Amino acid sequence: MSVLSNRRLFGTNGIRGVTNKDLTVEMATDIGSAIGTYFNHGTLIVGYDARISSPMLAKAVIAGLTATGCNVLFPGMAPTPTLQYAVKKHKTDGAVIITASHNPPEYNGIKVVWNDGIEISREQEIAIEDIFFDKKILYAEWNRIGTLQMLTGIIDEYVEAIKKHVDVSEIIRKRYHVVVDAANSVAALTAPKLLRDMGCKVTTINANIDGTFPGRLPEPRPENLANLALTVRAVGADLGVAFDGDADRSIFVDEKGEIHWGDKTFALVEKHFLIKNPGEKIVSPISSSTLVKDIADDYGGEIVWTKVGSVTVSQTMKKLKAKLGGEENGGIFYGPHQAVRDGAMATALILGIMAETNASLSTLLGQLPKYHIEKSSVECPSELKDKALKKLVEQVKGLNVSTIDGVKIWFDDKSSILMRPSGTEPIYRLYAEAKTKERASNLVQEYSLKLKRLISGLKS
Ligand code: MG
Repeated sequence: MSVLSNRRLFGTNGIRGVTNKDLTVEMATDIGSAIGTYFNHGTLIVGYDARISSPMLAKAVIAGLTATGCNVLFPGMAPTPTLQYAVKKHKTDGAVIITASHNPPEYNGIKVVWNDGIEISREQEIAIEDIFFDKKILYAEWNRIGTLQMLTGIIDEYVEAIKKHVDVSEIIRKRYHVVVDAANSVAALTAPKLLRDMGCKVTTINANIDGTFPGRLPEPRPENLANLALTVRAVGADLGVAFDGDADRSIFVDEKGEIHWGDKTFALVEKHFLIKNPGEKIVSPISSSTLVKDIADDYGGEIVWTKVGSVTVSQTMKKLKAKLGGEENGGIFYGPHQAVRDGAMATALILGIMAETNASLSTLLGQLPKYHIEKSSVECPSELKDKALKKLVEQVKGLNVSTIDGVKIWFDDKSSILMRPSGTEPIYRLYAEAKTKERASNLVQEYSLKLKRLISGLKS
């Protein structure tokens, strides 16, 4: 994940690297100046997550931005979706967010957001990379250096905006008890306040801000959420919610303490959205469960599959004017609020559905179609990944296939398999899904073998 490889700075979600190793203060200043040159004397918000290195890197980026004549509004520490919302609310030209989202504490990163609150496109990233690598930074004359102004109140504005999209009085009536696992990061600034505003009793864990992330890793995977599940059961709560490091993703635990993967809670949101808005387009990466398509079919929606990655989902939603998107990792994009993933918005939507239906989360999720998932991986040297993909596409001709990202095959019995080259490791990942566990594991075995044969054929 090191930056500076092959004239590239940006990965799938901004610039990422280990602080003071891949990502130094000097680099952050130059990156700030490259971004500032691109934004050409514009006004940008700069904010950051709870990482130890975040204030340091933010100050370096601010120095770089103002040196090129950009004005900076500085709210300090805040969740990524709060900063994205502030861009639209305060009509700035964009934002720079210092965060490494779900990565371990030694990492940090730089995200660049456009004036619509969405991360910039790959073309815009290339323009900034060209300025950085070709040293085309344009420093301002001494009297046109940018200003730095504090920006207060963005957390309250954001919480108020979310509340407009749900029936708050109905939620208040239910007096829900919610456990929040804030990952020792920025969700602690917004989620408890939002929930208390909606009449909830809030119990928090990992809600002290601590950039060493002592409570758990900031990736809200089920294996990191055992304490949340236990706490929900111990206090008899109605709901548990865990956020990632920058609070754009949320994973939910039902009242029985069961942890649910993101495409299930997304399917629930999708179902209730389509009941009210039939005919709408639903945007989701090809890695999501067929469940998402089943719900679209059953409730009169149209599914639009995309490549894996949150920026692609946001950009597709914008292009198609779609109002809802979702990912299996707990990212829910609610367009009427903003077309980016937003963990606090997702939490309000889930509580709104529970209140409206007067049903528990376990009941609501139990009503959705069921799938069994099996995962595996096959080794593949990075230089053979593209060749393997081409061969694979040839081999599966005639089947019901999507090649948007890797190869996904759907079968008549509602089972499917996705084979995708990993972006970071020398492997192909396989995800099979079926109505029975046996079918899912048979599919994984069958296609692992096919892929292994195909790759060893390429080596010889
Ligand atoms: Mg994140």
